[in-house]
Parts: sequence; C-alpha cells; structure tokens
Amino acid sequence: MRPKVAFFDFTSCEGCQLDALNLEVGELLGLLGAVDIVNFREIKTDRSDDYDIAFIEGSITKESEIPRIQAIRNQAKVLVALGACACTGGINCMKNAYPMEDLLKGVYGECAEYYNTIPARPISAVVPVDAYIRGCPPTTAEFVKVVKSLLLSKRPDIPNYPVCTECRMAGNVCVFQRGGTCIGPVTRGGCEALCVSAGRFCWGCRGLVDDPNTNSEKDILARYGLTIDQILERFKIYNSYSEVSKCQS
Ligand code: SF4
Ligand code: SF4
Repeated sequence: MRPKVAFFDFTSCEGCQLDALNLEVGELLGLLGAVDIVNFREIKTDRSDDYDIAFIEGSITKESEIPRIQAIRNQAKVLVALGACACTGGINCMKNAYPMEDLLKGVYGECAEYYNTIPARPISAVVPVDAYIRGCPPTTAEFVKVVKSLLLSKRPDIPNYPVCTECRMAGNVCVFQRGGTCIGPVTRGGCEALCVSAGRFCWGCRGLVDDPNTNSEKDILARYGLTIDQILERFKIYNSYSEVSKCQS
C-alpha cells in the first residue's frame, strides 16, 4: 500500500509548500505515483486524519498551535520539518527579541487584545522531528532526495559541512575578499552556495552545521578578525532561536 502523506502549515508564508508544487512535471508525477496525498490544503479540499508521513511548514508562534502539532505528531509515523521556519524557527524568531505585548500593539493596534502570540520556536522545540528539509525555500533537489529516502526507509543524506565548501567548488570569489560579510562558514551546505553564486552573500537560511565551533571554516572568520559569535550576531535573521546558543558553549 502506498504511504499516505499530509502537508500542514503553521506560522509561515506557505512558500515551501508552493515550492514543492513547483517540481518538474516528471519528478512530481514520479512522487505522486509512489504516495497518496491525503491532506494538502493548497491543492485539494478533501482531508483525512489518517496519514503516515506529515510535512510541516512554519514555526510555532501561538498557544493554539501546540496541541495541533502534538496531535499531528501522535498520528504521523514520520514527521518532516519543511523549510527554515519549521527547521530553525526561521525569521519568525526575530520577534523574540521584543516584548510580545509591544509587538501585538504594533501590529494589531487597538485590536491587539483579540490576538495571542508566544515566542516563536522551531517544530523540534515542541515535538520530535524525524527529518529536516532545510532552506528558505528548500531546493527542489533536496526535497525530492529526502522524500525518496523516506519512501525507502533510509536516513536522508543531508550535508553537514559549511556552505563555503560548495562556494569554493562553484568558483566564487569569497564575499569577505570583496569587503562584505557572509555566514557561509557556519551554515549547513546543500544549496550549492546559491546566494553567493548569484552575487549576494549567505544569510544562513539552512541553519547551522552541527558543531560550528569546531568546523574548519573558522579560519576564514579569523582571517578577517571575526569570531563565530560576532558573525551570528550580525545574522540573527534565520538563526536566532536555539541555533545561536549552540555556538556559545
Ligand atoms: S564565506 Fe561566504 S562567500 Fe566566502 S567562501 Fe564561505 S560561503 Fe563563500
Ligand atoms: S547561500 Fe545561504 S542563504 Fe543562500 S540558500 Fe544557501 S544557505 Fe540559504
């Protein structure tokens, strides 16, 4: 029997799910032939609470989202965090630096009392996560790779080396050499240094490598008089939740 797959969105822009729908026709048809999609609000109105694999987009930012993600976890045999908000808390965690009451008033004005908000957090801060598809949004290739691994009951092979590794392989001139700043030395690769190759710099959307303090790319930062803490302080955009604390040990 084909595994039943469900997609759910929490606090997010829903771009990761949209991106999953942008798969090449051949890849999409191949995956659709291997699974039954029983819950995916963006493409179908039928819904079922009987599923095996749950893809979760978005971070947890409201009390009401906690019992909802717990119920999904209880049902799913495999729970996959899809995209930066689900994997690291993403840009939603930027609000955690401010008093929640001030934020509510700033956004909703006189209607603030009708809304609730809690400090934003990744899915793994509330329930166990079995697999991660990282990025903002994830690359199509990684989405397909992780889904195929799950269907084969294999552990997905996700890089645990910094973006710098792929950046050099792409032949880019380092942003630091151009007088800029980049979080590539501590960010998990797998995107083929997409942003640097496009003339920008890495923002860290894929989260940090497992142990940023021991990786060899620290020498890049040292060469420019920077520490890992300093670079993370400049780039809290995607990594302001637990990822930052990993580097302070
Ligand atoms: S610091 Fe940034 S630009 Fe430099 S090699 Fe690493 S990823 Fe590339
Ligand atoms: S270069 Fe950095 S910000 Fe850009 S996609 Fe890769 S991990 Fe994300």
